[in-house]
Amino acid sequence: MTFEELGLSQKVLAAVQASGYTTPTPIQAQAIPPALQGRDILGIAQTGTGKTAAFTLPMLSRLESGRARARVPRTLILEPTRELAAQVEESFAKYGKNHRLNVALLIGGVSFGDQEAKIMRGADVLIATPGRLLDFFDRGKLLLTGIEILVIDEADRMLDMGFIPDIERVCKLVPFTRQTLFFSATMPPEITRLTEAFLHNPIRCEVSRAATTATTIRQALVASRGHADKRDTLRNLIRGAESFKNAIIFCNRKRDVAILHRSLVKHGFSAGALHGDMDQLARMASLDAFKNGEVSLLVCSDVAARGLDIPDVSHVFNFDVPTHSEDYVHRIGRTGRAGRSGVAMTIVTEDDMKYVDQIQSLIGKAIDWEGPGFDALPPPMETTRPQERRGDRAGRGMRRERGRRPATEREAPVSLGRPPRGGRSKPEEERFRSPACAAPTAERRERRPRRHEDDGPPVVGLGDHVPSFLLRPVALRPAKVAEE
Ligand code: AMP
Repeated sequence: MTFEELGLSQKVLAAVQASGYTTPTPIQAQAIPPALQGRDILGIAQTGTGKTAAFTLPMLSRLESGRARARVPRTLILEPTRELAAQVEESFAKYGKNHRLNVALLIGGVSFGDQEAKIMRGADVLIATPGRLLDFFDRGKLLLTGIEILVIDEADRMLDMGFIPDIERVCKLVPFTRQTLFFSATMPPEITRLTEAFLHNPIRCEVSRAATTATTIRQALVASRGHADKRDTLRNLIRGAESFKNAIIFCNRKRDVAILHRSLVKHGFSAGALHGDMDQLARMASLDAFKNGEVSLLVCSDVAARGLDIPDVSHVFNFDVPTHSEDYVHRIGRTGRAGRSGVAMTIVTEDDMKYVDQIQSLIGKAIDWEGPGFDALPPPMETTRPQERRGDRAGRGMRRERGRRPATEREAPVSLGRPPRGGRSKPEEERFRSPACAAPTAERRERRPRRHEDDGPPVVGLGDHVPSFLLRPVALRPAKVAEE
């Protein structure tokens, strides 16, 4: 099958050719012809399958006739995250370069004024996250009565993020006669119910499910003692990584993204962060810095990183084992894209084993272990903790010495045959180091608070917290003074 056989317009074909694509992907081959005929589509496809072009290309062809009116967009694409929305906008710029269409982006964290001006000009394509779209609608700045095509992308992720009521509302606000192109990687019951309510006799297009991982990705599991040791393990993995260019590091929780990011920067790595609580400008800046190679590590949460199309990522590290096994497939799919090779390493504690089992059964194969197993790991960090903490409270200068030594000792056996910390060569050291995150000077080190940076928060009430008055040195008087 060729793109010419799909029925796309000449302008679209020229743009596809300029992109260098010669053959439609399976989702494109299945979805584009019926979409061009105006049929509803139910596409079950994950990111990386070419699904963005599967809806963008027929939309561009269909938009060639007709014009947009002020405040009344002609088509609407709903995306769960701002990054995905911005990525779809880029696709319109790429595939629509021979068209003169107004594309507007409505996402949170960006000023209303500019967005409103674009809508006032008349948007042929409106790409939005549900919250900001409804905000605009409720302020009376937008009418949805002119929507000819509605795209709902990453529906299962919308479900995870609690957007389904918003989606239902939007589906009721757009004309009944619109065409709907609906994409989801999985079909949980809530999504099936949504498609039954809002799609009209759809053509179902299903491509390889989120259960397959690309053969170009080398996957490995790495044992770690517990949460406190995982940062050591990660640092060793990064330092020892072969053919390293850059890496995306996934955490399960937004809070841990921020903590890990700070820890990596503190250790001299050039790292950015991406999670849902960051404002939009900071998110875009992090993403751009990673794409441009200004930082070589990007610490992410699942939601923020879902579907991001960064073509050349050499490594993915799962700092946490994902609790939803399909997230594993999405995460490691950030590397090994477009036929390139990639490495995906997952740090595993004993508590994570049930999730590892679920992942292995989803992908239908066992993932190899690298380095020592749980039994061969050195003693856990926790055994030295109370002492370290007391040292912290007795004097911060001491803590560094006391706290550091066991960490260095721990690193050697976990190094998977790669150089331990102390043995790192100079160029290797420099490849992770950016000017912005150069090692702190002795003076700054003194001033900066050290707690929480590396050991996680202390657990009050479980023996980890000692009130400072108990740690104060007590001056005992000599006995004879007491007698006087
Ligand atoms: P998506 O699933 O939309 O995130 O697309 C994944 C990647 O595949 C993007 O980098 C696209 O540029 C690329 N792509 C889309 N369609 C094709 C195609 N027909 N041939 C080769 N690459 C494609």
